[in-house]
Amino acid sequence: MATFKAIRIDKADKGTTAQLAQFDEAELMDGDVTVRVEWSTLNYKDGLALTGKAPVVRRFPMIAGIDFAGTVEQSSHPQWKAGDKVVCTGWGMGETHLGAYAEKARVKGDWLVALPQGLSARDAMAIGTAGFTAMLSVLALEKHGISPKSGPVVVTGAAGGVGSVATAVLSKLGYHVIASTGRAAEADYLKHLGAAEVIDRSELSGPAKPLAKERWAGGVDSVGSTTLANLLSMTKYGGAIAACGLAAGMDLPSSVAPFILRGVCLLGIDSVMCPIEPRKAAWQRLASDLDRTKLAEITKEISLSEVSEWGAKILAGEVRGRVVVKIV
Ligand code: NDP
Repeated sequence: MATFKAIRIDKADKGTTAQLAQFDEAELMDGDVTVRVEWSTLNYKDGLALTGKAPVVRRFPMIAGIDFAGTVEQSSHPQWKAGDKVVCTGWGMGETHLGAYAEKARVKGDWLVALPQGLSARDAMAIGTAGFTAMLSVLALEKHGISPKSGPVVVTGAAGGVGSVATAVLSKLGYHVIASTGRAAEADYLKHLGAAEVIDRSELSGPAKPLAKERWAGGVDSVGSTTLANLLSMTKYGGAIAACGLAAGMDLPSSVAPFILRGVCLLGIDSVMCPIEPRKAAWQRLASDLDRTKLAEITKEISLSEVSEWGAKILAGEVRGRVVVKIV
């Protein structure tokens, strides 16, 4: 029986368990490409799945992990052959399809993106779903017509994964970035990433007025709840906020005032089922618009056996930047 190492999630009497275990290759799910996974990463959703704090996992046993980079071992898909370097994020991996914290993954070839030139597999996972989502948010703001000339942009949850990459990319593109964080100690880190201003998240976390002083032309919000409501009410006429996260909650206690009185737009960002063409575009832009030195500086490396412990840390808001998981 061929087996491989994986972080396996099982149902328990109370909740779920997550442990490093041997997984039987025969249990791999349907797919036309088998990949030797080399790197994965830790995202907020991985924390939810590993701790069982939210019902992310929809089948058992599950292999946790929502994204990987690796090398194709076997393929019956016309686009891929053994030896190709690939990246895969989302599509239900770690939720409904066996995931990425494993030496092997079998997925649909249609889910894969070629590793962009200039990025190593480790770089791709240092970016991971969080960084990919940050780039989808930047692309959405651009599509809305926002440019550095439009005015400042705000990034919330700035010291987290999505926030750190959004801050680094937007500043490299020439934006005046206002980074909002609850961790005052990370102000220097955020300035080093390129933030022009660092504000305390408490400025944005109270109940939102329907309209408040116009402060920014756009924003990337990974926090949700009253923070997103405040962002909207402080957005300049015609501006837009890309909403991609819920670190503070899923609710949105806002009003229609920013939309109907200032023409503000709320741009929804989903990385999981994002179609393949915008995926490729976002990865190309990450290869060109994210400073690799900064990426290295925001990235910490852990092993597969440390993943569970770090899952709890990311939910506690204790992770700065990005965490890559070395699989082999
Ligand atoms: P991280 O934990 O790395 O970052 C989240 C950050 O949010 C924290 O670092 C913290 O930043 C801030 N934060 C945490 N709790 C609170 C709170 N109660 N109030 C205000 N701010 C808070 O997670 P990720 O960056 O990986 O993910 C961020 C969010 O984006 C998550 O909700 C995740 O589910 C979502 N997401 C969505 C995707 C999509 O497809 N739409 C894809 C990827 C992620 P600081 O300390 O700087 O204040």
